[in-house]
Amino acid sequence: MLQDFISLIFPQNCLNCQQSLISEEKYLCTACKLDLPLTNDYKNQSNELYSKFAFEPKVKTASSFLYFHKGGITQKLLHQLKYNRKKDVGVLLGSLFAPQLSHLEFDFIMPVPLHKSKLRKRTYNQSEKIAEGLSKQLDVEVRGSLVQRIVATKSQTRKSKAQRWNNMENVYSEVKEEVSDSSVLVIDDVITTGATTGMLCQRLVEAGVADIHVACIARGK
Ligand SMILES: [Zn+2]
Repeated sequence: MLQDFISLIFPQNCLNCQQSLISEEKYLCTACKLDLPLTNDYKNQSNELYSKFAFEPKVKTASSFLYFHKGGITQKLLHQLKYNRKKDVGVLLGSLFAPQLSHLEFDFIMPVPLHKSKLRKRTYNQSEKIAEGLSKQLDVEVRGSLVQRIVATKSQTRKSKAQRWNNMENVYSEVKEEVSDSSVLVIDDVITTGATTGMLCQRLVEAGVADIHVACIARGK
């Protein structure tokens, strides 16, 4: 029974290739860890993700950690994190991503908040878990309650990105705490169009932040 309990908390097989793990390994075997499909966005400031935020001058950098392929390792890991209650996969991803963000300067890490109905269902915010892993490695605090997601789903529009950002009802509340002149790292699990993350950036700009860095584990299709 104890062994069952331990295996429940620490799975004994690699989440990607199913090989059994040795004691220092957690969730991923060393081979799969070395084989992660890195985008290396951090080396290229004008990457695809950044282009989604480029018209907001306060967004200084944007980087995605991994490529997303259907059935690939990134999808498997994110699936475990979001739908199989493996919250520590988020912490692991954050700690693996951290070295790529260590050259940036920011005062705090802000995980993209979930709407309370989704939070209730999932029991934790996956972006907060990623933020936790980053925070441990980079020794920067996480501020997870600056804004709330006040609209659960966003309506799809055919407007251009800029129009969408300006005209759509913001899905996030205003920033509730003092953040003026600070530099923020916004972390999300997956960024697809960038529209909702953009709204969060808009709230931060309204609150007077100096710089924003955007980061995510993967770019959605
Ligand atoms: Zn493996």
